[in-house]
Amino acid sequence: MSPTPARLLLRGGTVVDTDPQVTVRPNTDVLIEQGEILAVGSDLSADGAEVLDARDQIVLPGFVDTHRHVWQAVLRATAVDSDLGDYLNHILGRLSPAMRPEDVYAGNLLGALECLDAGITTVQDFSHVQHRAEHGEAAVGALRAAGIRAVFGFGYPPFDPDARDPKLVRDLRARLFAGDDDPVTLALAPSGPSYAPIDIVEQDWRLAAELDIPLAIHVGSGPVAQRPIEALRERGLLNPRTLYVHGNSLPDDELAMIADSGGTLSIAPAIEAQMGHGAPMINRARATGVVTGLGVDVVTTAPGDMFSLMRAALLTSQLADGPRLFAADVLRMATIGGAAALGLSDRIGSLAVGKRADLVLLRTDAVNMVGATHDIAGAVVASAHPGNVDTVLVAGRIVKRAGLLTHPDLPAALADARRSVAHLAASA
Ligand SMILES: [Zn+2]
Repeated sequence: MSPTPARLLLRGGTVVDTDPQVTVRPNTDVLIEQGEILAVGSDLSADGAEVLDARDQIVLPGFVDTHRHVWQAVLRATAVDSDLGDYLNHILGRLSPAMRPEDVYAGNLLGALECLDAGITTVQDFSHVQHRAEHGEAAVGALRAAGIRAVFGFGYPPFDPDARDPKLVRDLRARLFAGDDDPVTLALAPSGPSYAPIDIVEQDWRLAAELDIPLAIHVGSGPVAQRPIEALRERGLLNPRTLYVHGNSLPDDELAMIADSGGTLSIAPAIEAQMGHGAPMINRARATGVVTGLGVDVVTTAPGDMFSLMRAALLTSQLADGPRLFAADVLRMATIGGAAALGLSDRIGSLAVGKRADLVLLRTDAVNMVGATHDIAGAVVASAHPGNVDTVLVAGRIVKRAGLLTHPDLPAALADARRSVAHLAASA
């Protein structure tokens, strides 16, 4: 891994902050020290700092992907034409059991590098491929090797009842996680009340409380509770440390229950539209005031970058009832909204002094960005693509520079991924 510069000055960029609202500051410097933002302003002193020329660049907080099954990077585009039922049967039913620990490592490394390449500096990895302890070690090891910030959501494989073992989670927490300041933290990602009986759900909630870790669950029209949030409320299980994923099927009163509990929402507008989760709910979520972030979800079926996702959010907002969203709203969801949804807004999601220096720099001297000066935030949402991502920092460490990932052995990572893809293709 490349070292973290002790002091780094980004000189003269077009700085776009996202909190408390989207603001654009032309020709502005960002000074970083020991991985944190020390100052944002004009003509900052470069004393002792490595200087990075940010003219012709847009400087943004790193994107936050609040829901992604990172291991599935080695299953890319295997379910493009699938609806949710086909996806569950083929990917989780047939291919997940074929995932060896080395495939999980290869998938997580590839997926995390794909995130960084596209300016996603934080990911919530919903890792429901934990067939054995070795799968967890592989997944977490790969996130760390990539250098991404992550919330690792430990999930039991939905079609492997024998894998359900709380001891695995306890052991993993003790061995692999250092605490809140660790860039990779632990969450529990169980089935939740749409897909598991409420007594099992209650056991999972108790485990999360015992380990003092947050929860992330899918909600949908599953086989169990038709009113999953109400089922949680009746058991006294609604809490502010739960991230609810999707929720297109939830009526407004259950969305309001999430908002009232302080729980948060991750929506995956591209996947929800493509796999038939139901009508877009992005505007309804906003109307209830629930804190909401965006999620790529699965690259088996949709692209893995935040630009595509922001456009999906903007488009689906136009197709749904309720107050429409604008580009700046979507940019906030992709940054500070996602950070808040993961409980990390005290350290990432905006360019406030004291936050971790998780940043993305976009080139404006590219054919699709030149002249995009009328509405910079609008151009990021409507025009930009991963090829415009010039530089990416995670806690001040440069993980992409001049358009190239700095990972020390990218060819080996790609070769390992290809081997896993071949193994999985033979298992399909
Ligand atoms: Zn998902």
